[in-house]
Amino acid sequence: MEKILNYINGELVEPAGKQYFENYEPATGKPYSYVPDSDERDVEKAYQAAKAAFPEWSKMNKEKRFAILMRVSELIEERLEFLAQAESRDNGKPLKLAKTVDIPRAATNFRFYATAILHFASESHSMEDFAINYTLREPIGVAGCISPWNLPLYLFSWKIAPALAAGNTVVAKPSEITPMTAYLLSEICIEAGMPKGVLNIVHGYGHKVGNAIVEHDDIPVISFTGGTVTGAEIARKAGPKFKKLSLELGGKNPNIIFEDCDFESALKTTVYSSFANQGQICLCGSRIFIQSSIYEKFRDAFVEKVKKLKVGNPKDETSNLGAVVSKQHMEKVLSYIRLAEEEGGKILTGGQRVMMEGELANGWYIAPTVIEGLPFTCRTNQEEIFGPVVTLTPFDTEEEVLAMANSTKYGLSSTVWTENLKRAHRVAAQLHTGIVWINCWLVRDLRTPFGGVKNSGMGREGGFEALRFFTEPKNVCVKL
Ligand code: NDP
Repeated sequence: MEKILNYINGELVEPAGKQYFENYEPATGKPYSYVPDSDERDVEKAYQAAKAAFPEWSKMNKEKRFAILMRVSELIEERLEFLAQAESRDNGKPLKLAKTVDIPRAATNFRFYATAILHFASESHSMEDFAINYTLREPIGVAGCISPWNLPLYLFSWKIAPALAAGNTVVAKPSEITPMTAYLLSEICIEAGMPKGVLNIVHGYGHKVGNAIVEHDDIPVISFTGGTVTGAEIARKAGPKFKKLSLELGGKNPNIIFEDCDFESALKTTVYSSFANQGQICLCGSRIFIQSSIYEKFRDAFVEKVKKLKVGNPKDETSNLGAVVSKQHMEKVLSYIRLAEEEGGKILTGGQRVMMEGELANGWYIAPTVIEGLPFTCRTNQEEIFGPVVTLTPFDTEEEVLAMANSTKYGLSSTVWTENLKRAHRVAAQLHTGIVWINCWLVRDLRTPFGGVKNSGMGREGGFEALRFFTEPKNVCVKL
């Protein structure tokens, strides 16, 4: 089996302890590669390399940084097919999704921030003829970037690209469950001529490598995407060290369907927003609220469409859903389906593991599951499941649906379906989420602020927000 290696100081290296653990292929449930079981010694080595690289990288002409990051983007595009296959194998997601979303988006992330840094400007405040202030935006130092398993290279690059573009050097940790494309990215960085030590990738467990990054006294800025519980632990540790912190956490997103919606469009997109990537996108709409007058019509049409979705081999272009990411995650999702039944929910379709044949017999597949009849306050409707499970709930009025939509501790995104322009704006303004989509889902302009409120995190990624996060403002006041 192939051994993944750490990328430290421009080289692919073994972990200090020479220990590895197995990396599983969700489609087959079998191990297929080894992941370095790195620890704080590897993080320290990576930090020292990043520290040594910082002076030159941070002072480098922006055009040069731009050229290196653009080269990374081009190489990702050139290897799209290969990287997509690797991502699909590592994560269980349909190859088609990796080819059309994950890998193209990773290339775009590098391209976007390579160019963004050329346009990034800072403010100046004039005090008439008394004084003038100008603000310098300087890179901070060594940045720690920690990312999850659901969109592995996509979310990894979403952090690394702005951190590097802004002139920081980086110590990064991908999820240990899906490390393969981050490893392949290290090969690309070497080829793209990334100076040694600028980006360092340390593989391993969150409680060892992730924790060592968060606890490191000299890593002053941490960008984290992952679960809310982990985010809270990171905040507890980073707080007393006064680290700059960006947290993109969990969600329990409402999808609100008014009777005056474009029915077909709402129906089609809701199937996608419910089950894309096996429901393992932080932006998936897992609570579907349908206005009572169209509840039955929408429910029946939705269930009919969901029944036609094919759960299958991720490599097969006709599969709509592949495998979920791990056995442990599959068990968690299935336990939530049992909980929904205990709470009085009626399963309209799905509700169980899908057993495959042949080499996929031990893979981790779950049928897309639709549940109705649950109160909006129950655990199934309040806790993040992060799998192919949605609930349907009828509502009568705007006030009622807003109260239900805003009732969870999360506030990442929401979707609203209505052809009534005034209602769309009115409802959008009252939803407690960082992102609202009206009559669409997952439409992303990378210049817009991305992130959640409440327990869905703090800070925003995207556009110049990320460049502001990865720089420290310094005001200079000159008396005239
Ligand atoms: P986790 O919080 O379990 O892990 C995220 C990353 O943090 C992993 O690399 C993990 O390593 C690492 N980690 C775990 N424990 C620690 C620790 N104590 N200190 C430092 N790092 C640690 O999340 P998942 O990987 O399970 O991802 C799913 C979650 O991510 C969902 O809640 C989802 O909603 C959220 N998410 C949020 C997004 C957003 O933009 N708001 C986007 C995508 C996902 P290891 O894998 O080794 O545990």
